[in-house]
Amino acid sequence: MEEILKEPEKERSLNFLEEIIENDLAAGKYKSILTRFPPEPNGYLHIGHAKSICLNFGLAQRYGGATNLRFDDTNPAKEDVEYVDSIKEDIAWLGFKWAKELYASDYFEQLYEWAQKLIEKGLAYVDDQTQEQIRQTRGTVSQPGTPSPYRDRGVEENLKLFAEMREGKYSDGEKVLRAKIDMAHPNMLFRDPILYRIIHTNHHRTGDKWCIYPMYDYAHGQSDSIENITHSICTLEFDVHRPLYDWFIEKLEIFPSHQYEFARLNLTYTVMSKRKLLELVRTSVVSGWDDPRMPTICGLRRRGYTPESIRMFADKVGVAKRDNIIDLSLLEWCVREDLNKRSNRYMAVLNPVKLVITNYPEGKTENMTALMNPAETEGPSRTIPFSKELYIERDDFMENPPKKYFRLQPGGEVRLKYSYIIKCEDVIKDSEGNITEIRCTYDPTSRPGGGEWRSVKGTIHWVSVEHAKTAQVRLFDRLFTEAEMDSIPEDKQYTDFLNPHSLDYATGYCEPALFEDKSNIAVQFERIGYFIKDSESSAENPVFNRTVGLKSAW
Ligand code: ATP
Ligand code: MG
Repeated sequence: MEEILKEPEKERSLNFLEEIIENDLAAGKYKSILTRFPPEPNGYLHIGHAKSICLNFGLAQRYGGATNLRFDDTNPAKEDVEYVDSIKEDIAWLGFKWAKELYASDYFEQLYEWAQKLIEKGLAYVDDQTQEQIRQTRGTVSQPGTPSPYRDRGVEENLKLFAEMREGKYSDGEKVLRAKIDMAHPNMLFRDPILYRIIHTNHHRTGDKWCIYPMYDYAHGQSDSIENITHSICTLEFDVHRPLYDWFIEKLEIFPSHQYEFARLNLTYTVMSKRKLLELVRTSVVSGWDDPRMPTICGLRRRGYTPESIRMFADKVGVAKRDNIIDLSLLEWCVREDLNKRSNRYMAVLNPVKLVITNYPEGKTENMTALMNPAETEGPSRTIPFSKELYIERDDFMENPPKKYFRLQPGGEVRLKYSYIIKCEDVIKDSEGNITEIRCTYDPTSRPGGGEWRSVKGTIHWVSVEHAKTAQVRLFDRLFTEAEMDSIPEDKQYTDFLNPHSLDYATGYCEPALFEDKSNIAVQFERIGYFIKDSESSAENPVFNRTVGLKSAW
């Protein structure tokens, strides 16, 4: 995969939405395009939403149009301002600016008037059946539904009852407003769909003003139309809703927005349903919506993902018309690719063993220098103190190495990154045979820039014991062990596949310059991976989150 992706960016062909838009613009159908992103404020945004955001805002940018942010707040029971605020923060963080911030609830009056218009046209009626009865009389794909006994109520009666519903005369579930279409329609959604239900719950914006709330199908398309949205883009499961979307627009004779569907983003090792994500938060499987293992945008941000990497990912995923599942490693690849170019480098040892350079003077410190970012050869550099006692990674030494092992081994030489070549002379062990100290000598002529360059096969990182500063390091991994979380066996639950090692802790022994870093993005711990200072980190208790390893471990 890496090779394919590293190919020079080819001029890619248009995706089907770009084709539609280009044709519409060429035909003069619209002067400019207007898209929208319509989240329901009932949870935090996740990477699937990010895909939709990049698509909607990206198309508008590409064709000189604009994008509205519209909160689809038609279900007061599950919605909250906390979610509204987080959604705005996340979209802005991704780097997008909406033209207008709008709320479906702002259209309640207009939607109500249009519902009256449908009643007047004989296209809607108040039904006294319960939602359960309505469901049971809808029929099946092969059998027509049974008309409601209230289906033929007169216009006047319907208008009166509908007004009473609004006034609060009835309790939850006592009545609904339904469209009057066709109880034998092959598309089940046309069998007199419910337009309004009664919910006596405080709404986070409209308070107690309303106790009837429009259903998705009735609210969504009309909201698009009110805003003059030209291209209303949603996910594939809504394709069966499209005829109904068009039906309302036709009957109400309002601005003809058009709906287009693309495949929703699915990711391996990930659950994306808001219900499940909320459950993970409520049951404390994770520490919150922004737990760095969550696929939420705030989780990814805390994990060290950059907006650039998420936009790159959305671009690489493309726009499909068929459902598929994207490999999580593509997302990881994108953040590596972005951070590789931009992040500052530091050395940190996570699983240390002490190394002593026997022929190096006691008490001496030398300052080695290295670029913050090797890609910026003219960029700033840092100072790395070097002394007689160092920490190296336990894995970088093997007493009985296999053939192709180029790191430190008895009698072998390696270069200490940005510093001298050392040779392993001896190891010291405790009574249980664990290595407690590696004893080496160094070649004083081998300091970079300090004589003739001599190369050895292995280079390892290190941190001076005396100068090392410690930090807690949180090693995050995939939250689930199963790739296709949407196809787990029926007798299992998604929580049966939680990865017990999704979070491990280590102590990092770090070079001091790390703590002066001002870059505000993840840094690279050389030879290990990318790490970002956690939001809970403090000067006394620094904490770093692993964004991703340098190479895929899976
Ligand atoms: P859930 O069903 O988990 O509650 P949702 O799709 O209902 O999620 P919304 O807030 O209604 O969440 O979604 C806002 C927009 O984001 C919609 O246009 C929806 O199509 C899009 N979206 C949601 N999930 C994905 C996904 N996985 N991939 C692409 N787009 C998505
Ligand atoms: Mg939805």
